[in-house]
This record gives sequence, structure tokens and C-alpha cells, in this order.
Amino acid sequence: MNAFDQYEVWFVTGAQLLYGGDAVVAVDAHSNEMVKGLNLSGRLPVKVVYKGTANSSKEVESLFKAANNDEKCIGVITWMHTFSPAKMWIHGLQQLRKPLLHFHTQYNKEIPWDTMDMDFMNLNQSAHGDREFGHICTRMRIRRKVVVGYWQDEEAQRKIAVWMRVCAAWADSQDMLIVRFGDQMNNVAVTDGDKVEAEQRMGYHVDYCPVSEVMEYFKQVKDTDVDELTATYFREYDHDAALEDKSTEAYLKVWNSAKAELTLRAVLKDKGAKGFTTNFDDLGEFDQIPGLATQRLMVEGYGFGAEGDWKSAALCRSVWVMNQGMTGGCSFLEDYTLNFDGDRSAILQAHMLEICPLIAANKPRLEVHFLGIGIRKSQTARLVFTSKVGKGCAATVIDLGNRFRLIVNDVECIKPKPLPKLPVASALWIPQPNFEVGAGAWILAGGTHHSCFSYDLTAEYWEDYAEIAGIEMLHIGKDTTISSFKKELRLNEIYYMLNKSLC
Ligand code: MN
Repeated sequence: MNAFDQYEVWFVTGAQLLYGGDAVVAVDAHSNEMVKGLNLSGRLPVKVVYKGTANSSKEVESLFKAANNDEKCIGVITWMHTFSPAKMWIHGLQQLRKPLLHFHTQYNKEIPWDTMDMDFMNLNQSAHGDREFGHICTRMRIRRKVVVGYWQDEEAQRKIAVWMRVCAAWADSQDMLIVRFGDQMNNVAVTDGDKVEAEQRMGYHVDYCPVSEVMEYFKQVKDTDVDELTATYFREYDHDAALEDKSTEAYLKVWNSAKAELTLRAVLKDKGAKGFTTNFDDLGEFDQIPGLATQRLMVEGYGFGAEGDWKSAALCRSVWVMNQGMTGGCSFLEDYTLNFDGDRSAILQAHMLEICPLIAANKPRLEVHFLGIGIRKSQTARLVFTSKVGKGCAATVIDLGNRFRLIVNDVECIKPKPLPKLPVASALWIPQPNFEVGAGAWILAGGTHHSCFSYDLTAEYWEDYAEIAGIEMLHIGKDTTISSFKKELRLNEIYYMLNKSLC
């Protein structure tokens, strides 16, 4: 879990001095033990740091201000050990800008029926203390995750772990730069949107980098470095031996791809960017879109969106962050073509080139083929593979004009047939609950043809993300019906019209 070493989550215990100093000392000891237990569980990806009991309005305010200003702190967990009168949380909650998780748990697991007395009661009061806290959060319209369960139970810890990963992606997003190499693809509506509002709402910043500037980096790339990277490709990926023949055009195409990768990596590093977009009509000296480069940069965590799709680039980066240390993998994907086959009807997911090898079922194969799209129709290198079989989750963010909407669809990746004439990386999935309802609901929601896919994430991650960001989320899953989904769409229109602060 080294990926999140730079982060911590604070644990604050709500108490009060009504029960005397001894009670607070005991509360403190219980909290320490619980935080230690959470950290030793091995289930939490981010370290929990106990910040003591909060016994007054001043203490809460000062703790939350400190959380806001601490770069390592990506979220705050609160737990009301004793009855903590909630007015004392008002000023702190008014200021808290970090994600909040309210943990409704208790130090003691089972009621000690034979021995329980009033002293015991004074130390195990979360049953009503947490409701008092919940009330003030709800009254103040504080967005948070509520986790209910015994602190040693796997399920409660799993829910906290989910939230922690989302908090990490959220923190990462507040310091995220997405660079657009070229503009949006002309006339495309769904990949466009309000970049100013995106920065206010999701935190990330989107810049434009003219391809002429990219070409300045291109000129600086050393041939020896390109030779070396080309050799790395041949070591890392399956390929035809003939591809290594330096006298062929195919070899030159692989070499050109390596040069493109070195160019893009240099620009991204210089700018401190965490993601990028490309446009196949704006290539400068590149001999084709830098597809292989994009595939490899995605593995390293650079978010990617094709055709200028900066919202997908940013979301892909967040997915990659949340996925750290998990085994399934994630990628940018596009709805490519449909396969009608009764209850196995599915959608082929692919792109011209840019699919991340993290989702590959087998070792990717390096191949060179013609790509007839864009201003420079030519042979170009790419990694070819099919995705793993299994359940996953696809997500996208669209701009509705007055707000952002996150759309999430559970999907099941199934085994595709070989595609000898379409040598690209691909996945084949059945959207849940089935093709008709899944695709129908996605279209009614206004979802993109691009999505950010992960085998490891579930709708719960996205629910936490939407809660933190304060954006609308629609989940299409096993229980979705078109008529209930349409009702949700209509009700959300009213909800967001009335809740101007969320628009
Ligand atoms: Mn596309």
C-alpha cells in the first residue's frame, strides 16, 4: 500500500466534560486502541492518525482548521464516543473543507448484561451520541459518508477503505493539471464542457499546449534515447521477430512511437501534468497519433482522454489513483460497436489505439498496422490485447449546462472472439442489468461514448466521490429499470434546480 504513504486520515473523537476528567481519559484510551486496531487491520490503505478527543466548540474548530491546512490530511473520521452536544460542532463543520466520514461504532462490542452499570454507560454512548452528531450534519447539509458497524469488523473497515481511496483521488485531483495537446475534436458536444466550473467543483485545472510547443520537445529528443526505448519495447512485449529488422518501415514506425513517447513524457514532466488529451487532426511532426505512447503513459498513471476529452482524462487519472495496489486494472475505453446476441448482447470497447494494458488478460503484443483516421493516415505501432473476463465498473462525467453529472454503470466483461482484421486492444462487456436497460439508461442520462473503466472499483467508490465533489451521480446496476431511472432523472432535475449551491 505504498502508493498512499504521503497521506493520512485524521480520527477525531467527540466527547464532553460532563462525565468528569476520568471519563475523558478512558475515552482517549479507547480511541487510541481503536485507531491502533484500524491501522493494524491491514485493510486500510491510508494511515489513521488519532487527533484526540474534542470536548468543546473551540477544540473542534481548531482541529478542523488544522485538518484544512495539513497537506497530508486527506479526510477526517469523526466518532462520538459519548454524548457530544452537537452545537459544539457547528463552527468547525462550517469550516471543514476536507472529506468527512462519520463512523457510527462503539468501543465495546456486546452488552455485558450481568455487569453493566452507569459507569459503563457513560463510556459507551455512541448509540445516541452519533445520532446527535448526525442531526447537526444533516441540518447543516454537510456531505459525508456514514459507516455503521463494529470497528473490528471487516465490512465496516472495507467501507472506510473505499472512502480512503476516494479521498486519495480527491486530494490528487485538487493538485491536478490536465494538458490538452490540440483542441476538442470539432463539433463534438459530449467531450466539451465548462473548464472553469470543473476546477471549482472537481479541483483539477485544464490547460492547452499547442502542438508547435510539443514539437520543440520533439526536436530535443536524442536518437540514442529513442534506440534504447525501442529496444525496451522489444524486451517487454511479444512481437514478430521481423519487427526488429532496422531496415524496414515497420521498425521505423516503432522507433517513431518511441520518439513520440519520449516527447510527450518530457512535456508532461516539465508542466507537472497528471493527464493529457490528443487530437488526431493536430499532430505536428508525429507520423500518426501517439497511440503506443499513450498506452504506456496510462500505465504510469497519466490520465488520458481522446479527441480533446479532458473530463475523461481527469477522471481516468482519479480512477488510476483509486486503483493503486489493486490487481484488476483500469483504462480509458470507448463504446465501439454493438453485438446483438439475445441476453448475451454486448458492446465492444476499444479505441483507435489508446487502451491501457493494465486491463490486458495476456501479455500485450506489439504490432504495426495501418491506421486510416486523422490527418496522417499511416502505419503505426500499438499494443494489441484483449481484456480480462470479470465484473467491473464504467464511469463518466458530463456537463449538463447547469451541473456535472457522474454516470456509473456496472458491467461484465466477457470473452470476445478474435479480431484478426481489427488489430487494436479491446474489451467486450455486457452493461448491467442487461444490454437493453444498461445502454438505454446510459443514453437517457446523456452519457459519453468514452468511459473510465476499472475492474476493482464499484459504485460505492463513485457514490463517495460524488458525495465529496457535490455532484449528481446516477448508478445503473442490477436493480435499474428504465421507468424508475426516468423518474430519478426527472426528480434530479428539480432537486438540482432548487439546490443552487450544487449547480
Ligand atoms: Mn473517441
